[in-house]
Amino acid sequence: ERKKLGKLKKTPAVTIDGTPVTLLANIEFPDDCPQALDGGAHGVGLFRSEFLFMNRPAESALPGEDEQFASYKQAVIAMKGRPVTIRTLDIGADKPIDFIEHTSLNPALGLRAIRFCLAEPQMFLTQLRAILRASAFGPIKLLIPMLAHAFEIDQTLALIEQAKAQLRKQNVKFDEQLPVGAMIEIPAAALALPLFIKRLSFLSIGTNDLIQYTLAIDRVDHEVAHLYNPLHPSILFLLSHTIATAAKAGVPISVCGEMAGDTRMTRLLLGMGLREFSMHPAQLLSVKNEIINSDLGVIEPATRRILRTYEPTAVADAVERLQVL
Ligand code: PEP
Ligand code: MG
Repeated sequence: ERKKLGKLKKTPAVTIDGTPVTLLANIEFPDDCPQALDGGAHGVGLFRSEFLFMNRPAESALPGEDEQFASYKQAVIAMKGRPVTIRTLDIGADKPIDFIEHTSLNPALGLRAIRFCLAEPQMFLTQLRAILRASAFGPIKLLIPMLAHAFEIDQTLALIEQAKAQLRKQNVKFDEQLPVGAMIEIPAAALALPLFIKRLSFLSIGTNDLIQYTLAIDRVDHEVAHLYNPLHPSILFLLSHTIATAAKAGVPISVCGEMAGDTRMTRLLLGMGLREFSMHPAQLLSVKNEIINSDLGVIEPATRRILRTYEPTAVADAVERLQVL
């Protein structure tokens, strides 16, 4: 089975009816890039930059601008001209780092990700400069986690402009057109997409957090793990609404949460109109195998029926049947 999949590395990711699909890799370190290329990735859809900040030796609490720049540059060079989407620091809750205090009773609802970065603008500017500098060496996109409010987007864009101005003053080269996008992973964001579409150039759905926040279940709490259901009708609604709204506006949209790498979900997401999937490199070829055997002419009407089905067992059965269509 692995050997058979290995043969798909160079096979175009195109459905039976001729629709091309983009397959991207989620990485944690630049050293993951060779595995992404091995899986035939068209690029990196999610570089989780917080891993450069986690589990560090005590004497070097934070990676500085040059150290971060070296990592981002290494990734973009390793990907040989394919786009690399770098997500800015997403710390707090399930991704703790040593140098910040974690005292909140509800860390998932606390000062995490972009909220933390906007509260620590010097740290954020350091990361933004490092990413901008790396953009002189290959195509980079900037992805912002956990946005919900218009003013957060605006403050983030203003800080990016400030980082650019600082680099221009030093005569440092960077991509002036660096695309900036948002993770859609808070239900409020999925329900207020025009705010994002107006201000940003692409979107990426983080199903891991979108499920956590929609169903009000802590994604790392084993006692509620049985309630973590990607097929809950509310999740299917938010996914299809987000994908359709972005497509209608002509804004590129991907899914980079675990759902994108789960072959049981591939056809459902295709049927909703998703054409960009980002996943762990080990899952790329299995998902491609699903895609090249999928016929949208059959899957799209079946998906529309699933979206009108609210009963959990009927939904689960219908999603399972999608796989044998
Ligand atoms: C997500 O929330 O779905 C996601 C892709 O990001 P993370 O798992 O790193 O929070
Ligand atoms: Mg997330």
